[in-house]
Amino acid sequence: MRDVGSKPSGFAIASLVTACDRSGCMFREGIQIHDFVLKSGFLSDVFVGTSLVHFYGTYGLASNAMRLFEEMPDKNVVSWTALISSFAKHGHFEKAIKTFHEMQELGVKPDQVTFVSLLSACSHGGLVEEGLRYYYSMTKEFNIPPRIAHCVCMIDLLGRSGRLTEAETFIKEMPIPPSDFVWRSLLAACKVHGNPELGRKAAENLIALDPSDDSAYVLYSNVCSTSGRWGDAENVRSQMGSRKVQKQPACSWVKLKNQVSSFGVGDNSHPQSPEIYKKLDELKKRIIEAGYVPDTSYALQDTDEEQKEHNLWNHSERLALAFALINTPEGSTLKVFKNLRVCGDCHSVFKFVSGILGRKIILRDAFRFHHFAGGNCSCSDYW
Ligand SMILES: [Zn+2]
Ligand SMILES: [Zn+2]
Repeated sequence: MRDVGSKPSGFAIASLVTACDRSGCMFREGIQIHDFVLKSGFLSDVFVGTSLVHFYGTYGLASNAMRLFEEMPDKNVVSWTALISSFAKHGHFEKAIKTFHEMQELGVKPDQVTFVSLLSACSHGGLVEEGLRYYYSMTKEFNIPPRIAHCVCMIDLLGRSGRLTEAETFIKEMPIPPSDFVWRSLLAACKVHGNPELGRKAAENLIALDPSDDSAYVLYSNVCSTSGRWGDAENVRSQMGSRKVQKQPACSWVKLKNQVSSFGVGDNSHPQSPEIYKKLDELKKRIIEAGYVPDTSYALQDTDEEQKEHNLWNHSERLALAFALINTPEGSTLKVFKNLRVCGDCHSVFKFVSGILGRKIILRDAFRFHHFAGGNCSCSDYW
């Protein structure tokens, strides 16, 4: 557009920023557009400003999102919601809630998307009572009927905190029919809190809604495995075989200097493989000294403890982490991506590594961002 002398519109710029936002690995390009926006005075365009707030939120820079938001001369409900969502995604739950109240003090009415961000902040922050209160106030005070996204947040909220019976009752009383997301969230909670009976119910409902959905089988087989029901887990796995449902293979990747390196489970194909496994051995020794105890319930094979523990050290996110450690300067922030949900034991390894090496690590999995620093994670172990 610029080559032919046509001046880009606010809409064109906002679309570009959104593209960088969604791709997940075009941070530098987004910054360049931000530069252009500053030079060309586009920040007064509410769509451009909002797209940038969202962009910084996605890339884990909640403080940049906040600064930009403050500089915007015009803000609407979408801008406020983008800021709440950026706080929510990165573990600043209290700030998300504070922003929600600030917007109302300034006379901006929240919409249904605002409530999705707010409820997800409550859910990830383990703020159960607050979440319940906001959910019910949404209909009563704001006249916003609940949609499926709100209900999923509520199941997540109750499920994460182990209130599984309440979650089941909530589903029965939902004003709209439960979707696959609702059942999947309940099933995941049954895995974390070890409730195979309710897990079976959730899995059956999930499979009834979409028999081709492999995640139902995989999750249910995980529920059985984590509660030691290897026989049941095997049954589910053989059903998967006969229905030709394939588990989506886990894959993690790291982007360095415009090059993406990706790793599967137990991957040996990378040219730096020997160094990666050496690094992992070294990390293992150091974190064990610091008190790490492997949680072998995440190794999904019915083998002996030693083998299970060994299998955990083949997980793709660990290989990607070791690769990133070898190839980045000391003190820099590490960024790892994973296509599925991070496993509980890898989550614990990432926490220890961030503490011992004093490195910040951002892990973006299929569901959320985890910011590891000083031995802790922004998700407070709810995910
Ligand atoms: Zn793992
Ligand atoms: Zn986390």
